[in-house]
Amino acid sequence: MPYQGEGTPGATDVVTYLDAYERRYQLDVRRPVRVTSVTERDRRLEIHTDKSDWSASAVVSATGTWSNPYIAAYPGSAEFRGVQVHSALYDGPTAFVGQKVLVVGGGNSGAQIYAELSSVAKAQWVTQQEPTFLPDEVDGRVLFERATERLRAQQEGRPVEMSGGLGDIVMVPPVKDARERGVLHTVRPFAHMTETCVVWPNGVEEQIDAVVWCTGFRPALDHLTSLGVVRTDGRVAVDGTRSLSQPRLWCVGYGEWTGSASATLIGVMRSARSTALEIDAALTTDS
Ligand SMILES: Cc1cc2nc3c(=O)[nH]c(=O)nc-3n(C[C@H](O)[C@H](O)[C@H](O)COP(=O)(O)OP(=O)(O)OC[C@H]3O[C@@H](n4cnc5c(N)ncnc54)[C@H](O)[C@@H]3O)c2cc1C
Repeated sequence: MPYQGEGTPGATDVVTYLDAYERRYQLDVRRPVRVTSVTERDRRLEIHTDKSDWSASAVVSATGTWSNPYIAAYPGSAEFRGVQVHSALYDGPTAFVGQKVLVVGGGNSGAQIYAELSSVAKAQWVTQQEPTFLPDEVDGRVLFERATERLRAQQEGRPVEMSGGLGDIVMVPPVKDARERGVLHTVRPFAHMTETCVVWPNGVEEQIDAVVWCTGFRPALDHLTSLGVVRTDGRVAVDGTRSLSQPRLWCVGYGEWTGSASATLIGVMRSARSTALEIDAALTTDS
């Protein structure tokens, strides 16, 4: 990605790049179109949308995960009358000033949202285990380097020697600030929720105003349920990226199960390329 500025490219630089990419390769993008379902008919796939229907010899599903926030299931969470918001819809700390807030989730979203809330609210950070914090001197790029190294090792048949996890916490300024204020602590999960409280494993009830769920995302695959390919774990059985039960369907970019590091802009390149080659071969055989 060519970048002319200084420092790290921001969101706008990424959007500008993708926009230029679409124009440069004259990609035929139809928008806005929402695919509602996909069905099989006469050895082709029918794509049903909110605009019109298409018939295709091959379909690549690349709907990502960001539109499907996942909230962890805790007993009683449906009865809780306080605020519950997923990190995807978190809009900054203002709404939580002075409140008792739990931030649930041990990844970077949890760390950063907790760090921010801890200076304005009575916040606690709930994680399944103690998070691993990266050294101050490295930034998030190290996580991409680890993912790349893991892929290379797999490709070369070497044992994967990981020096850390892919979701370790990056010490961005707000997280460092929370550490300096002495509040960068976690607690293990509560056992259940009531209308107004959480109940900790030792039986102690604690009144809570709000819970911010930083519990991640799941593949957005509702449009494929009509094909009968989505398993109970929310994934599609694949060989590489090709569906095992529906050979005209490829799933790209959903995470490790569709290719190592494939849920990143950098990592998806390898599985996207092999998918294109496979489709080309399949269509040639078909014709
Ligand atoms: C804060 C943050 C920082 C990141 N930093 C990096 C980074 O530095 N480097 C990096 O490589 N990656 C980074 N990523 C990851 C990167 O954003 C993702 O890899 C990328 O967005 C995934 O692209 P995608 O096309 O697979 O999915 P998405 O970007 O989620 O695109 C999926 C598209 O499908 C559409 N869609 C969903 N369902 C339907 C439907 N039924 N019908 C029609 N359309 C549908 C969605 O509206 C969306 O437009 C970052 C992500 C976040 C959140």
